[in-house]
Amino acid sequence: MVKSAYDTLIVGAGLAGACAAASLSRHERVLLVDATGPAAGASGVGAGLVNPLMARRARPPWRAREALSALERLLEHTVHAAPAHCGRGAPHARGVLRPAQDEAQAEDFERAAREHPDLGTWIPAPRDWPQVHAPYGILVVQAGFAVSIPRLVRAAVDLARARGADVRFPATLVSWRAGNESKPAAQALLEVQLGGVDGTVHTRRLLLCIGNHLLRPWSSTFLHTRLPRLHLHAVKGQSVRIERPVGLLPLPALSGHGYIVDEGDTLFVGSTYEHTFVDLTPDPNMGDALMARASRMVPALENARIVERLAGCRATVPGTRLPMIGPVPGQSEVWVFAGLGSKGLLLAPLLADELHHYFRSPEAIPEELRLARWPQNR
Ligand SMILES: Cc1cc2nc3c(=O)[nH]c(=O)nc-3n(C[C@H](O)[C@H](O)[C@H](O)COP(=O)(O)OP(=O)(O)OC[C@H]3O[C@@H](n4cnc5c(N)ncnc54)[C@H](O)[C@@H]3O)c2cc1C
Repeated sequence: MVKSAYDTLIVGAGLAGACAAASLSRHERVLLVDATGPAAGASGVGAGLVNPLMARRARPPWRAREALSALERLLEHTVHAAPAHCGRGAPHARGVLRPAQDEAQAEDFERAAREHPDLGTWIPAPRDWPQVHAPYGILVVQAGFAVSIPRLVRAAVDLARARGADVRFPATLVSWRAGNESKPAAQALLEVQLGGVDGTVHTRRLLLCIGNHLLRPWSSTFLHTRLPRLHLHAVKGQSVRIERPVGLLPLPALSGHGYIVDEGDTLFVGSTYEHTFVDLTPDPNMGDALMARASRMVPALENARIVERLAGCRATVPGTRLPMIGPVPGQSEVWVFAGLGSKGLLLAPLLADELHHYFRSPEAIPEELRLARWPQNR
């Protein structure tokens, strides 16, 4: 049963929508819908890695420490989301290893560990991980870890339900229109049509957490007509799951030539960044390329058997590489929360916790997160 009126109708149950639902349902009446179900989009294909010393030079991303705290808080409320293989609660099993790829990167990693000792430790001659090829040394990102994104999303949806949110799968956003326009804006409700739900749903606010479906060619004709062309770019990502080679010792999460997460019987190897692509089906050649990269970090993976190939699409904001949050120009009650890029785990819980405040004070949204249109001359 859906109620007659909500404060916020959240469309999309990936990381953005599930975290938003878990957080907002503490304050208001929430309905969460997804056209398919939880983690049906990009959130279904990441391992995923939480790495607060990212990229080639191991720099902390935007608000890294606050983001880690917000994710930890969410994990505390969704303990069953933490997969046993992460060893959460067993501090020795935490951490992400970053083998340096050359001497220049070793210098960057050493500096990162010196500047951010709470996040990382530089080990020039590692001995503890004989199965990892690391001739230039290893940066141990002790503040990082791996957590299954689909499991976290499902747990966040359960948490939202437990906090009073209504959840409806499958239910597809079809259209919306302003309700009774004779009422003051604060009282007027949007009328929303959802495929899979009988009748019209009324809501004060619509929050679009639909990832790459904000972008062509995935967005619907209705969305084309009602939203400006947002400054979002699609990046295809592919990953593979492989059978554990016989005799391989347990591995911490690794990031360098791609990333590797030890799941127990299987290992997850990610991921590609493809800026031009034809479709979102997994390409066997890319899977093989991922395996070639992974076995440079862990040579014992060289002949491992691929048991699953996955592909998805990250929506990213060119330039800032930060998410987009805010009301759609001219439609103050229609909001977008998207563009998590490759940092979904770090950024979704943090920003979801701030949404309630932003709804009441949109001017508090940091400049770098505000909705931007695709530049006219592109
Ligand atoms: C291969 C790969 C590996 C990754 N690895 C990592 C990692 O290790 N660590 C990390 O932090 N991040 C990682 N990411 C990024 C992370 O997965 C994304 O940032 C995040 O999942 C995006 O979440 P989202 O909720 O914005 O979008 P999505 O997960 O795509 O969710 C959008 C949802 O909207 C629904 N939807 C769309 N249109 C409608 C409609 N009209 N009506 C109803 N529902 C609709 C879809 O069904 C979907 O469930 C990876 C991404 C990829 C592709």
